Amino acid sequence: IAAEIADHQARLTGDNIKFVFAQFTDIHGAAKGKLIPLTHLDDIVYPGAGFSGPSIWGTGLPRTGVRSEYYGRADLSTLQSMPWLPGYARVVLDGHVAGQPFTVCPRQILRKQVARLAARGWTLNAGLEPEFFLLQDKDGKIDSESGDTLDKPSYDTKSLLRRTSFLEKLTASLDACGLGVFQIDHEDASGQFEVNYKYADALKAADNFMLFKMAAHHIAEQEGLIFTMMPKPFADRPGSGLHFHLSIADADGKLIFGSAQDKSTDERGLGLSTIAYQFMAGLLEHAPALTALCAPTVNSYKRLMCGQSLSGTSWAPAFIGFGDNNRTTVARVVYQRIEWRLPDSSANPYLALAGVIAAGLDGIERALDPGQPVNRDIYEMTAAERDELGLQILPQNLGVAAEALKRDEVLAHALGEDFVHQFVNLKSAEWLEYSQHVSSWESARYMKQF
Ligand code: GLU
Ligand code: MG
Ligand code: MG
Repeated sequence: IAAEIADHQARLTGDNIKFVFAQFTDIHGAAKGKLIPLTHLDDIVYPGAGFSGPSIWGTGLPRTGVRSEYYGRADLSTLQSMPWLPGYARVVLDGHVAGQPFTVCPRQILRKQVARLAARGWTLNAGLEPEFFLLQDKDGKIDSESGDTLDKPSYDTKSLLRRTSFLEKLTASLDACGLGVFQIDHEDASGQFEVNYKYADALKAADNFMLFKMAAHHIAEQEGLIFTMMPKPFADRPGSGLHFHLSIADADGKLIFGSAQDKSTDERGLGLSTIAYQFMAGLLEHAPALTALCAPTVNSYKRLMCGQSLSGTSWAPAFIGFGDNNRTTVARVVYQRIEWRLPDSSANPYLALAGVIAAGLDGIERALDPGQPVNRDIYEMTAAERDELGLQILPQNLGVAAEALKRDEVLAHALGEDFVHQFVNLKSAEWLEYSQHVSSWESARYMKQF
């Protein structure tokens, strides 16, 4: 290992790297870390970069004693330069406490679920689709460049081409790190964009998403812009999703979710394999609990809310079902992949992916059946029509979602009781704090009325 570290140091010195940003992700999905001079790389491999445990959100670690120290050990396979910040490299850390992998570290939680798949010879490939807003602060008013709300802004040319400077720098940085950007567009809210890059195995996909977020924040700042992944920054515009495109490959790299060429083996006509249906059935079965992990903020539910006039154009899911290329259900089947549309851009990618694997494996282990596809526009259906199909609504606020996670024994067992306890406590407190807040909407509506 000493030789490996020396090789990395020699290579990075050649690239003029002076510092390594030793990075981990907290329970809320925020990138955190320390700068380490390249000459000290060995320290963060072992014993690891030291952090005060109780200063990190959601660790539940004590203020004193051996368990108060959180060590982040560098995973050297993730070590690479941060092209948007010359002279700096990034390495991803795995949390350890008292010499053991830390059970509440999001990356360790995902590693555990990835290992369950690997034991079957499987890899979950995940393509994460980040949607985000690029805004400007004009005298305290934060909005998109033009400030006006475009009518059907999807694929708007002016809005896209106005941001080429940011987008070029972002693409160059992501590509230099091997992410492989293949599409960029202006989405269906004024000031909203989506950048698509190549899928990867679950752990790498989560690491890549954090890199994307760090790069985008930093480059936006360099450009005098505000980059935000807040799920629903404007009440009257669609929110930002973080859809997961999911498929499983076997040890030979062969996809086991079905065949696009031969749909005849699938009586539902989507060309999916039995394994894929079972995996999806697990997602649907655990959807209420997964909502807490995939839509983890108070604001998330303003994106997911159903029955609103905006629903018809917001493309965010509200009901638990799946369909053939159906964007109105929580799962869309598209070319032998499952697009899981629940996650929003505030999700911690490690936790959301770990939850998805745990739920999907439960579906496979119990041979669950997801029922028939819904190939109709759910936004257009009446409540009676939805009831007839048995379409359940997703939790409509963070409090309900946190409760659902608390009650889900399969997820608690897979992700760990300690983690679920910490997460549910934090999220219940967040919901309570919001619930106690008296908003300007309430004052305007009720002050004079009563
Ligand atoms: N912005 C939508 C969401 O919140 C998704 C739009 C799309 O399908 O790309 O999920
Ligand atoms: Mg999109
Ligand atoms: Mg999508």
